[in-house]
Formats: sequence, C-alpha cells, structure tokens
Amino acid sequence: MKAYSLKGIGQLEYVDVPMPVMQSGWALVQVGAAGICGSDIPRIFSTGTYHFPTIPGHEFSGRVVDVFDRQNQRWIGKRVGIFPLIPCKKCMSCQNKEYEMCSDYDYLGSRRDGGFAEYTAVPVWNMIELPDNISMNEAAMLEPAAVALHAVRRIRLPHNSVVALLGLGTIGIMITQWLHIFGIHKVYTTGHNPGHGSLMQQIVSADYEYINIDNSQNKDMQTVSENEAVSQIIDSTKGQGVSIAVDCIGTSASLDQCIKCVRPGGQILIVGNPKENIFLDKDIYWKILRKQIHLTGTWNSSFFHDAKDDWHQVIASASNRTFQMSALITHRLSFDKLHLGLDIARSHNQYHNKIMICNDL
Ligand SMILES: [Zn+2]
Ligand SMILES: [Zn+2]
Repeated sequence: MKAYSLKGIGQLEYVDVPMPVMQSGWALVQVGAAGICGSDIPRIFSTGTYHFPTIPGHEFSGRVVDVFDRQNQRWIGKRVGIFPLIPCKKCMSCQNKEYEMCSDYDYLGSRRDGGFAEYTAVPVWNMIELPDNISMNEAAMLEPAAVALHAVRRIRLPHNSVVALLGLGTIGIMITQWLHIFGIHKVYTTGHNPGHGSLMQQIVSADYEYINIDNSQNKDMQTVSENEAVSQIIDSTKGQGVSIAVDCIGTSASLDQCIKCVRPGGQILIVGNPKENIFLDKDIYWKILRKQIHLTGTWNSSFFHDAKDDWHQVIASASNRTFQMSALITHRLSFDKLHLGLDIARSHNQYHNKIMICNDL
C-alpha cells in the first residue's frame, strides 16, 4: 500500500510500505479522508515524531475492511471516525474514564502510525460509527471539532457572557461555533488572517467581530497592534472587560492580554499550545489575584462510548447541521497530493483553513 512515511525531520516520503499488522482488539481501516492539523507542520518539519519512520496524520476517517477478532466482525464495512488517543486504561485518569488525561497513552499519527496512508490499523475501542449524513471529509474533522467542544465545556457559560478569543484559527472558529450553540452571542476575536474572520462571520450569524492584528502578509488590510486590539475590546465593553477570555495562541503576550481584558471574577480558558516558556510581569500576575480570575486549561477531548462524550456530541450536532464542519474545508486534494497540501499549509499566498487528502471510498 501507499503511505507517507516520516523517515526523519523534514523527510516525508510517499512510498510503498507493507500493510499494517493487526493485533487482538484491532481493526484494519481503509482511510477515506485525512486532514492536515496545524500540529502536523512542526511534527513533520521541525520537531519530528517519537521515532522514525512514522506515518503521521491523526485527523482521519475511513471504512473498516478487516478485524482481528471474530467477535468484532459486525464492524466490517462500517464507516468510522477514529479517536486517535490510545489510553493505557490503567492509570487513575483512565479509571475515571478521563482518557484524555491518561498518563501513559499511545497516539495514532504521532507516537505510532496514523492516517496519511491507504490503510491503517486502529483499536476497535477507538472507532465511532458514522451516521450516513456525515461525509468522510467531515468525519476527518471530528477530532478538532471535539477538541474545540471539550475546551468550551471546561468553562461556565452564564447567559449574556461576552467573550474575547485571541488567535482565531481553525480551532478558534470551531470554539466560536460551540459558544454560539451554547447561547453566547457576543464574541470579539483577534488574529492575523482576515479570511478566518470573514469565514467565522459567514458561518455564525451573530454579533461576532474580528480585529485584524499587524501582520506583514496583509499590508493593505486595516490592522492594529495586539495592545490596541485589547484596548478596543475593553472600550467596547464600556471599560468593564469581557467575562471570558480564550487564549488560542499560548504565548506570554497572549496570556498577558487575556488577563488585561477579562473583567473581575472572569474566566480565562487556555487552549493554545506554548512553543516557549511563559512569563508574566508581577503587575499582570497580580491582576489574577486582584480580579479573582478563574484560569482553566483544556486538553484533547473526551471519548468514553457514551452519548455525553465530546465525540458523540459533535456527531449529533454535525448530523443535525447545527455545527458546521465542511465550511472550514478549503482544500480537498487527492491522496497523492499531501506534499502540495503541506506546501499550502506552510505558505501564506492563498487562503487556507482545513486541508484534506481524500481517497474515494
Ligand atoms: Zn490535531
Ligand atoms: Zn491511562
């Protein structure tokens, strides 16, 4: 079969590899669609995976073509989404069914082979059956959609909450959609990509504003500095600040701005993965105390084979079309075009959001 094998940092090769080997409890899935995640870019080009070679790709869907055990035969032919985290099922978090916090997990597409392949082997436990009206492309977005939902479910959402979301990107647009579904109708967002701003406004028809931050790529657009954006948000709330600030960036500056723009007693939801250490000035740190700010972290998504977990909730909302996924897909490329997709994801010369590689199944 064909697969994209990461043989070293920056060395992703489209090659023939042996079919994946199943073990007890596992299934063989023919991949239908696989999305490029923002985290795949450093994984492929700068930090690498845990060992080489590895087939990356953790956002994917497919059809079950074989199972190892006779008792799993009912899965053969089923269209499935795949929760990429393989928990140890022994640690305290796993015993509480909080698998996203497992202390000893495996991961499809980073710690072991994932979805940038024609076929991949996955545990039956990690599969979720798709309703007919969810396409393979949409199902490859269940993971980021569940991550966004998980984040939003970590915080309290009192009615009339006003939200500032810093760093609008794919996850931010999905978070905004979930906030809308949960009854929040006033969100200020900031970012470097006016395309994301207009897409958000198209798919969530509520009072959502986008503030474009200085960026050399968009010289002709109206832009402001990060600090001006924060002042604008504070001014728009008559000086009070927002009730919830969402940090989708993960830098010292973005956390600083969240602390500045949140009102006393407000909440900060930290979503973005940091690339470097985070430092706060004493006066800013002090505001966490003085404003009695609630700081909340979020990690991955919940999946425990129950209608209440994030994955089942995403499927329910995507299936009845209250949550939109396909609107975020800007590129559908054939399976042999992953390198082109990665080039688009890394360059700034055309608007891109979710980029998919697809096999016609
Ligand atoms: Zn991802
Ligand atoms: Zn565990």
